[in-house]
Amino acid sequence: MQFLTESLIQLITQTSTNLPPDVRAAMQTTIAAETPQTQSSQALNIIASNIDMAYEDEGAICQDTGMPTFIVHTPVGVNQIAIGRAIRDAVREATKRGKLRPNSVDSLTGKNSGDNLGEETPVIHFEQWEGNEIEVKLLLKGGGCENKNIQYSLPANLDHLGRADRNLEGVRKCLLHAVWQAQGQGCAPGAIGVCIGSDRAHGYMLAKMQLFRTLDDVNPNPELAKLEAEIMEAANKLGVGAMGFGGKASLIGCKITAANRLPASFFVSVAYDCWAFRRLGVRLDASSGAITKWLYRDPSDAVQNMAESAEFPLTGHEVALRAPLTEEQVRSLKVGDVVLISGECFTGRDAVHHHLMSHEPPADLRGAVLYHCGPVMLKEGSEWKVKAAGPTTSIREEPYEATVLERYGVRAVIGKGGMGPKTLAAMKQFGAVYLNAIGGAAQFYARTVKKVLGVDWMELGIPEAMWHLEVENFAAIVTMDAHGNSLHAKVEQETGAVLAGMREA
Ligand code: SF4
Repeated sequence: MQFLTESLIQLITQTSTNLPPDVRAAMQTTIAAETPQTQSSQALNIIASNIDMAYEDEGAICQDTGMPTFIVHTPVGVNQIAIGRAIRDAVREATKRGKLRPNSVDSLTGKNSGDNLGEETPVIHFEQWEGNEIEVKLLLKGGGCENKNIQYSLPANLDHLGRADRNLEGVRKCLLHAVWQAQGQGCAPGAIGVCIGSDRAHGYMLAKMQLFRTLDDVNPNPELAKLEAEIMEAANKLGVGAMGFGGKASLIGCKITAANRLPASFFVSVAYDCWAFRRLGVRLDASSGAITKWLYRDPSDAVQNMAESAEFPLTGHEVALRAPLTEEQVRSLKVGDVVLISGECFTGRDAVHHHLMSHEPPADLRGAVLYHCGPVMLKEGSEWKVKAAGPTTSIREEPYEATVLERYGVRAVIGKGGMGPKTLAAMKQFGAVYLNAIGGAAQFYARTVKKVLGVDWMELGIPEAMWHLEVENFAAIVTMDAHGNSLHAKVEQETGAVLAGMREA
């Protein structure tokens, strides 16, 4: 199969860089329905531009290219071992080309393998079928939305919704709760794959498999089709909005399956995927490995632009800031302000925060802008280039951030999804703000990076190292200010009240 590896590299590249038509259509509908001039609509505009940029540059739509998950069907007699080897070769090569971020971390040592290969990564599921061709489907689902997957064991008591029983009404409550609890942390608007029943492990697997359905299909089971439609309607009344800013867009898809269960168990498993819903597939000639057909897309159909303009729509009310920032500057900001950051900023995510608890920072962070980001970086000649650089989910740093603000004098934290009460209190006490960038907008933000000024703690791996980036007009929204206000807490409370109103079907 001389073309197999190249075909798989194409599959990975297209999946990472070109959103499929059904997801584009769902996002177009969402964008059109959102109230103009709101924070949610601004976020959607950036998302639309980012989708276009990723396609134009063949760059990763989001810097978090997730756990590559391959579903492979082979005719009887085809060598699955050879296909597994070709998948791993393709993953290694796509990582080298910057289409995938090195994401495979040894869970015992914390070491990043650097090529996306490692124990049980990538994930490959093989099945035989009676077709003559090989089918390979691929899902790239990042960590932010993966962390918002949730599994319910019924009966259960749910926030705002009360008791969920072992029936479809109980399932309805679980699914609304699943969308609500994700807020903006899974880069809403998202899509959910759901399994009613099965056991814990297989239920999650079946829920994820639902994400391989197209967003516009209709469930062949009328009862589940009805439930899917009901959830879509109700979830989009919750008011979570794009990025959790509050707004109309909360869900772009709900796909449900049901599997038999044990008498003692009633699980509802939910796989939450973000707007950057990257999944594609190919059919391959079983003797050559050449692509005979694309699934989910017709390459002869021209890809339409999503955004009306590639620029961030400026209103003239934006606050231009140059790092390092003063306490006075950050204390003058309030929730809802849009800022344009220029100057040096430092990336720092999970490993950096943990490291900072026991090590001095490698640079002076007084007045600094700390960006929760694990970029895709490539070395071109002797210079590092940013290939994708959107924000990561900030709440993971909640146990550390207050200490970082107090000890090192950081004035602004950029991330997505917001942070908790401990960080909010520290921002008020020490004078700092949280700036919500648009999750998944990796190409949009990569273009604001004018230069890579340096890197420290490279031993933590490329996504986890502390990169020093010179940015220009990096747009973000103040969602937590130095006066104790948090848009995230407000939206969570307001949507919780709406959820409570949905207690009865
Ligand atoms: S869009 Fe958001 S949730 Fe999705 S992979 Fe990117 S950062 Fe993660």
